Amino acid sequence: MQQELTPREVVLVGGGPGDPDLLTVAGLRAIRQADVVVHDRLGPVSALQEARPDAELINVGKIPRGAFTPQEEINAILIDRARSGLRVVRLKGGDNFVFGRGGEEWQACAEAGVAVRVIPGVTSAVAVPALAGIPVTHRSLSQGFTVVSGHVPPGDPSSQLDWKALAATSTTLVLLMAVKFLPEITAALVDAGLPATTPAAIVADGSTTQQQSWSATVADIADVAEANAVRPPAIVVIGQVAALDLP
Ligand code: SAH
Repeated sequence: MQQELTPREVVLVGGGPGDPDLLTVAGLRAIRQADVVVHDRLGPVSALQEARPDAELINVGKIPRGAFTPQEEINAILIDRARSGLRVVRLKGGDNFVFGRGGEEWQACAEAGVAVRVIPGVTSAVAVPALAGIPVTHRSLSQGFTVVSGHVPPGDPSSQLDWKALAATSTTLVLLMAVKFLPEITAALVDAGLPATTPAAIVADGSTTQQQSWSATVADIADVAEANAVRPPAIVVIGQVAALDLP
Protein backbone atom coordinates (compact mmCIF):
# COMPACT_ATOMS: atom_id res chain seq x y z
CA MET A 1 0.00 0.00 0.00
CA GLN A 2 1.86 3.07 -1.22
CA GLN A 3 0.35 6.00 0.62
CA GLU A 4 1.32 9.57 -0.28
CA LEU A 5 1.82 12.15 2.46
CA THR A 6 -1.06 14.58 2.78
CA PRO A 7 -0.60 18.30 3.51
CA ARG A 8 -1.73 19.27 7.04
CA GLU A 9 -0.98 15.77 8.30
CA VAL A 10 1.62 14.56 10.81
CA VAL A 11 3.13 11.15 10.12
CA LEU A 12 4.85 9.42 13.01
CA VAL A 13 7.69 7.47 11.40
CA GLY A 14 9.65 4.82 13.29
CA GLY A 15 13.23 5.00 12.05
CA GLY A 16 14.66 1.75 13.41
CA PRO A 17 17.72 1.40 15.63
CA GLY A 18 20.20 3.49 13.63
CA ASP A 19 21.29 1.69 10.48
CA PRO A 20 19.36 3.46 7.69
CA ASP A 21 18.87 0.06 6.03
CA LEU A 22 16.57 -0.79 8.93
CA LEU A 23 14.17 2.02 8.09
CA THR A 24 10.99 0.64 6.47
CA VAL A 25 10.20 1.25 2.81
CA ALA A 26 7.16 3.30 3.87
CA GLY A 27 9.27 5.30 6.33
CA LEU A 28 11.87 6.13 3.68
CA ARG A 29 9.18 7.19 1.22
CA ALA A 30 7.65 9.48 3.85
CA ILE A 31 11.03 11.12 4.57
CA ARG A 32 11.57 11.70 0.84
CA GLN A 33 8.18 13.40 0.46
CA ALA A 34 8.14 15.45 3.66
CA ASP A 35 8.18 19.25 3.74
CA VAL A 36 9.35 19.11 7.36
CA VAL A 37 11.17 16.37 9.29
CA VAL A 38 11.20 16.73 13.06
CA HIS A 39 13.90 14.38 14.33
CA ASP A 40 15.99 13.28 17.29
CA ARG A 41 19.59 12.40 17.99
CA LEU A 42 18.87 8.63 18.03
CA GLY A 43 17.74 6.60 15.08
CA PRO A 44 18.77 6.69 11.43
CA VAL A 45 20.15 10.23 11.36
CA SER A 46 21.85 9.54 8.02
CA ALA A 47 18.42 8.85 6.49
CA LEU A 48 17.87 12.61 6.76
CA GLN A 49 20.06 12.94 3.68
CA GLU A 50 17.12 11.38 1.84
CA ALA A 51 14.92 14.38 2.64
CA ARG A 52 14.29 16.89 -0.15
CA PRO A 53 17.02 19.58 -0.29
CA ASP A 54 14.38 22.22 0.44
CA ALA A 55 12.79 20.30 3.33
CA GLU A 56 13.02 21.86 6.77
CA LEU A 57 14.91 19.61 9.22
CA ILE A 58 14.24 20.37 12.86
CA ASN A 59 16.47 18.66 15.44
CA VAL A 60 14.65 18.36 18.74
CA GLY A 61 17.12 15.71 19.91
CA LYS A 62 17.54 15.08 23.56
CA ILE A 63 21.11 14.64 24.72
CA PRO A 64 21.16 12.81 28.11
CA ARG A 65 21.46 15.50 30.80
CA GLY A 66 21.97 18.12 28.09
CA ALA A 67 19.95 20.52 25.99
CA PHE A 68 16.63 19.25 24.72
CA THR A 69 13.37 20.56 23.40
CA PRO A 70 10.52 20.11 25.92
CA GLN A 71 7.75 17.77 24.72
CA GLU A 72 5.19 20.60 24.70
CA GLU A 73 7.38 22.53 22.31
CA ILE A 74 7.78 19.50 20.02
CA ASN A 75 4.00 19.09 19.98
CA ALA A 76 3.61 22.79 19.19
CA ILE A 77 6.08 22.54 16.28
CA LEU A 78 4.23 19.54 14.80
CA ILE A 79 0.87 21.31 15.08
CA ASP A 80 2.19 24.63 13.76
CA ARG A 81 3.83 23.11 10.67
CA ALA A 82 0.79 20.93 9.89
CA ARG A 83 -1.53 23.94 10.21
CA SER A 84 0.69 25.83 7.77
CA GLY A 85 -0.33 23.24 5.19
CA LEU A 86 2.92 21.27 5.24
CA ARG A 87 3.55 17.53 5.12
CA VAL A 88 5.15 16.75 8.47
CA VAL A 89 7.19 13.70 9.40
CA ARG A 90 7.99 13.06 13.06
CA LEU A 91 10.99 10.70 12.86
CA LYS A 92 11.94 8.74 15.98
CA GLY A 93 14.51 6.04 16.67
CA GLY A 94 13.07 2.54 16.78
CA ASP A 95 9.28 2.62 17.02
CA ASN A 96 7.44 5.79 18.06
CA PHE A 97 5.18 3.88 20.44
CA VAL A 98 7.98 2.12 22.37
CA PHE A 99 9.25 4.74 24.83
CA GLY A 100 8.97 7.22 21.98
CA ARG A 101 6.15 9.47 23.24
CA GLY A 102 4.30 8.83 19.99
CA GLY A 103 1.02 8.43 21.85
CA GLU A 104 1.40 11.84 23.47
CA GLU A 105 2.23 13.49 20.16
CA TRP A 106 -0.77 11.79 18.58
CA GLN A 107 -3.04 13.05 21.39
CA ALA A 108 -1.71 16.60 21.18
CA CYS A 109 -2.24 16.69 17.40
CA ALA A 110 -5.72 15.16 17.71
CA GLU A 111 -6.70 17.77 20.32
CA ALA A 112 -5.54 20.47 17.91
CA GLY A 113 -7.57 18.93 15.08
CA VAL A 114 -4.45 17.78 13.18
CA ALA A 115 -4.66 14.41 11.40
CA VAL A 116 -2.05 11.81 12.37
CA ARG A 117 -0.85 8.62 10.72
CA VAL A 118 1.71 6.14 12.00
CA ILE A 119 4.39 4.17 10.16
CA PRO A 120 5.69 1.63 12.68
CA GLY A 121 9.42 1.16 13.06
CA VAL A 122 11.82 -1.66 13.88
CA THR A 123 12.18 -1.35 17.63
CA SER A 124 15.63 -1.60 19.17
CA ALA A 125 14.09 -3.77 21.91
CA VAL A 126 13.99 -6.70 19.48
CA ALA A 127 16.40 -5.67 16.71
CA VAL A 128 19.44 -4.82 18.83
CA PRO A 129 19.51 -8.16 20.69
CA ALA A 130 18.97 -9.88 17.32
CA LEU A 131 21.95 -8.10 15.78
CA ALA A 132 24.06 -9.38 18.68
CA GLY A 133 22.88 -12.93 17.99
CA ILE A 134 20.30 -13.03 20.79
CA PRO A 135 16.75 -14.09 19.89
CA VAL A 136 14.35 -12.65 22.48
CA THR A 137 12.36 -15.89 22.38
CA HIS A 138 13.67 -19.36 21.68
CA ARG A 139 11.79 -22.63 21.69
CA SER A 140 12.65 -24.51 24.92
CA LEU A 141 14.36 -21.48 26.51
CA SER A 142 11.94 -18.56 26.59
CA GLN A 143 8.24 -18.36 25.84
CA GLY A 144 8.10 -14.58 25.90
CA PHE A 145 9.89 -11.33 26.52
CA THR A 146 9.18 -8.36 28.73
CA VAL A 147 10.42 -4.93 27.70
CA VAL A 148 10.82 -2.37 30.45
CA SER A 149 12.45 0.99 30.97
CA GLY A 150 15.25 1.27 33.51
CA HIS A 151 15.33 5.06 33.55
CA VAL A 152 14.29 5.16 37.22
CA PRO A 153 15.73 2.79 39.84
CA PRO A 154 13.68 0.15 41.69
CA GLY A 155 11.98 1.66 44.71
CA ASP A 156 11.94 5.16 43.25
CA PRO A 157 8.61 6.89 43.98
CA SER A 158 8.06 7.44 40.27
CA SER A 159 8.71 3.78 39.36
CA GLN A 160 5.61 1.88 38.22
CA LEU A 161 7.41 -1.45 37.83
CA ASP A 162 7.12 -4.47 40.11
CA TRP A 163 10.69 -5.80 40.02
CA LYS A 164 9.74 -8.81 42.19
CA ALA A 165 7.19 -9.82 39.59
CA LEU A 166 9.69 -9.20 36.80
CA ALA A 167 12.20 -11.46 38.56
CA ALA A 168 9.59 -14.23 38.58
CA THR A 169 8.25 -13.97 34.99
CA SER A 170 10.71 -16.50 33.52
CA THR A 171 10.45 -14.53 30.29
CA THR A 172 13.42 -12.82 28.71
CA LEU A 173 13.83 -9.33 30.24
CA VAL A 174 14.81 -6.56 27.84
CA LEU A 175 15.84 -3.34 29.58
CA LEU A 176 15.98 -0.03 27.75
CA MET A 177 17.50 3.16 29.21
CA ALA A 178 19.06 1.03 31.97
CA VAL A 179 22.78 1.85 31.84
CA LYS A 180 22.77 4.35 34.69
CA PHE A 181 20.79 2.26 37.18
CA LEU A 182 22.00 -1.19 36.09
CA PRO A 183 23.64 -1.94 39.49
CA GLU A 184 20.39 -1.14 41.36
CA ILE A 185 18.21 -3.03 38.85
CA THR A 186 20.25 -6.22 38.76
CA ALA A 187 20.59 -6.20 42.57
CA ALA A 188 16.80 -5.86 42.92
CA LEU A 189 16.21 -8.77 40.53
CA VAL A 190 18.67 -11.04 42.37
CA ASP A 191 17.24 -9.96 45.77
CA ALA A 192 13.80 -10.91 44.46
CA GLY A 193 14.97 -14.43 43.68
CA LEU A 194 16.29 -14.33 40.13
CA PRO A 195 19.25 -16.77 40.20
CA ALA A 196 22.53 -14.81 40.24
CA THR A 197 23.86 -17.11 37.52
CA THR A 198 21.14 -16.10 35.02
CA PRO A 199 22.84 -15.16 31.74
CA ALA A 200 22.83 -11.49 30.73
CA ALA A 201 24.19 -9.36 27.91
CA ILE A 202 24.52 -5.68 27.13
CA VAL A 203 24.59 -4.38 23.56
CA ALA A 204 25.62 -0.78 22.88
CA ASP A 205 25.16 1.24 19.68
CA GLY A 206 23.28 -1.62 18.06
CA SER A 207 23.15 -1.69 14.25
CA THR A 208 25.84 0.98 13.93
CA THR A 209 29.51 0.53 13.07
CA GLN A 210 30.23 1.08 16.81
CA GLN A 211 28.07 -1.86 17.94
CA GLN A 212 29.63 -3.78 20.82
CA SER A 213 28.26 -6.38 23.18
CA TRP A 214 29.33 -8.05 26.40
CA SER A 215 28.03 -11.14 28.19
CA ALA A 216 28.07 -11.99 31.88
CA THR A 217 25.70 -13.21 34.56
CA VAL A 218 22.97 -10.96 35.90
CA ALA A 219 25.08 -10.59 39.06
CA ASP A 220 28.10 -9.35 37.09
CA ILE A 221 26.72 -7.49 34.09
CA ALA A 222 26.66 -4.09 35.82
CA ASP A 223 30.36 -4.42 36.73
CA VAL A 224 31.19 -5.51 33.19
CA ALA A 225 29.30 -2.52 31.80
CA GLU A 226 31.12 -0.17 34.13
CA ALA A 227 34.55 -1.71 33.46
CA ASN A 228 33.99 -1.22 29.73
CA ALA A 229 32.59 2.29 30.16
CA VAL A 230 29.37 1.34 28.35
CA ARG A 231 27.33 4.43 27.49
CA PRO A 232 23.78 4.79 26.16
CA PRO A 233 22.23 3.83 23.88
CA ALA A 234 22.47 0.27 25.13
CA ILE A 235 20.10 -2.64 25.67
CA VAL A 236 20.37 -5.19 28.44
CA VAL A 237 19.03 -8.70 27.93
CA ILE A 238 18.54 -11.00 30.92
CA GLY A 239 17.56 -14.64 30.53
CA GLN A 240 18.72 -17.96 29.13
CA VAL A 241 18.66 -16.62 25.56
CA ALA A 242 21.54 -14.28 26.45
CA ALA A 243 23.83 -17.34 26.68
CA LEU A 244 22.62 -18.92 23.48
CA ASP A 245 25.74 -19.19 21.43
CA LEU A 246 24.39 -18.92 17.92
CA PRO A 247 27.06 -20.26 15.56
N1 SAH B 1 11.64 4.15 20.47
C1 SAH B 1 12.92 3.46 20.66
C2 SAH B 1 13.34 3.43 22.11
C3 SAH B 1 13.56 4.81 22.72
S1 SAH B 1 14.17 4.76 24.36
C4 SAH B 1 12.81 2.05 20.08
O1 SAH B 1 11.73 1.56 19.78
O2 SAH B 1 13.88 1.46 19.85
C5 SAH B 1 15.90 4.91 24.09
C6 SAH B 1 16.58 3.61 24.46
O3 SAH B 1 16.43 2.66 23.42
C7 SAH B 1 18.06 3.72 24.66
O4 SAH B 1 18.38 4.20 25.95
C8 SAH B 1 18.47 2.28 24.50
O5 SAH B 1 18.17 1.51 25.64
C9 SAH B 1 17.56 1.83 23.38
N2 SAH B 1 18.20 1.98 22.06
C10 SAH B 1 17.74 2.70 21.03
N3 SAH B 1 18.54 2.57 19.96
C11 SAH B 1 19.54 1.74 20.33
C12 SAH B 1 20.69 1.21 19.67
N4 SAH B 1 20.96 1.52 18.42
N5 SAH B 1 21.52 0.38 20.38
C13 SAH B 1 21.24 0.06 21.65
N6 SAH B 1 20.17 0.53 22.32
C14 SAH B 1 19.33 1.35 21.67
